[in-house]
Formats: sequence, C-alpha cells, structure tokens
Amino acid sequence: MQFVFLGPPGVGKGTQAAKVSEKHGVVHIATGDILRKAMAEKSPLGVKAKGYIDEGKLVPDALIIELMNDRVRQPDAKSGYILDGFPRTMGQGQAFTEALEQNGEHLDGVIYFSLDDAALVERISGRRSCPSCQSVYHMIFNRPKNDEICACGTPLIRRKDDDPETVTKRLSVYGDQTAPLIAYYKELGLLSEVDAGGDLEGVNGKVEEVLQGCSR
Ligand code: AMP
Repeated sequence: MQFVFLGPPGVGKGTQAAKVSEKHGVVHIATGDILRKAMAEKSPLGVKAKGYIDEGKLVPDALIIELMNDRVRQPDAKSGYILDGFPRTMGQGQAFTEALEQNGEHLDGVIYFSLDDAALVERISGRRSCPSCQSVYHMIFNRPKNDEICACGTPLIRRKDDDPETVTKRLSVYGDQTAPLIAYYKELGLLSEVDAGGDLEGVNGKVEEVLQGCSR
C-alpha cells in the first residue's frame, strides 16, 4: 500500500493517515513531523527549515526531495506507506514520480481531502499537538481524554504556525503551490476525492472505501 494523502492544512489528513497506518500496519510519513523533530533537535536540516516553517512558507524542494527519497527507502517503509504533507509542489510531485519509476515502483493512489476555507480555519484553531510523540488532537472533534495533556503524558501545545496570521499565509501557499498537484494526479489516473467534512469516523469510512478500491 503506497498512498499520498493530499489536501490543505487543517483538513485532517494527518489524523486519517495515523488511523490507516495503525489499521493496515503501514508507516505514516509526515514531512511536517520530520521537520519539527529536526527543528527540536537543532539538526542541520532543522536549522535550515526553521525560518520557512515559522513564516508559513514551504521548505525548498531540494531539501525535501532528498529527504523523502531517502525516507521511503528505509526498511520500515517496505510494507507500505502513507505520505502526509508530501509532495507539496509540482517539482516535488514530478521528482517523486521519477524516483519511483527508477525503482520500478508506483503509487497505488492519491486521496485528495477537500474542505472549504472557513471549516479549515475552525479546525486549525482548535488543533493541539504533542511536542513529544506528535499526536494531534482537536478541542471539539477529537478531545484529549485528560484535558490538555497527551495520552503520552506531555502537555499539548498549539503549534506556532497554527496562529491565525500564519494559517492565512499557509492557505494561500497551498492554493498557489500545492493545489496544482490535484490536476497532476488526476491526469495520472491516481486521484480520488474524499469530502473531509463531518466527523472523523465518517471520513475514515470513506477513506477505507477508496483504499480498498485502489489497492492492487
Ligand atoms: P505540516 O505539518 O504538514 O502542516 O507542515 C508544517 C510546515 O512544514 C509547512 O508549513 C512547511 O513549512 C513545512 N513542510 C512540510 N512538508 C513540506 C513539503 N513537502 N515541502 C515543503 N515544506 C514542507
């Protein structure tokens, strides 16, 4: 199972990717999580990425493409993966298609999660993240059991790039740079659209239908 989960920030693709990963035993690879971990560790990648992330901009393609081509070759990705937050530009999408082809591989499909901007802003403003295990909660739709504490015991935070001003910037970057991938994957015959409105379980049911229909 090799899938890309595509969609705007706040649409819930990370939450769905985590559920699918758990159910099907495939690895959930989220570029945002990898970059946040690198920033926390102040690694060379983290130091380079920080300025872009804090301003709601995308990290340059060259850094991301190398990172992800290497990540999907790791042993834990052998039995399958869900990519969340990658590719995010046409350059990344095309480079990834070529890298897969060179290895005689292909994606099984791309799920595009759609939702209007007003609902996205509402979802992002209620989002709380765990800086330790990267779990994501929502104060209305997916509440932590223990007020603002993660199941792993760490106090939850609101991500710096989830503040309203940066969110507006991220939505505009998504429209300009990431949304063209919808047409790209449609053209390749890989795209399925899932309406991301409604509750987590309802959306998950639709995702599972697509996964079953696409897996070869
Ligand atoms: P996310 O957690 O997916 O919303 O990502 C948080 C931030 O990390 C984004 O706003 C970008 O600055 C950066 N980022 C994540 N994935 C990518 C990517 N594929 N290409 C470039 N920048 C990325």
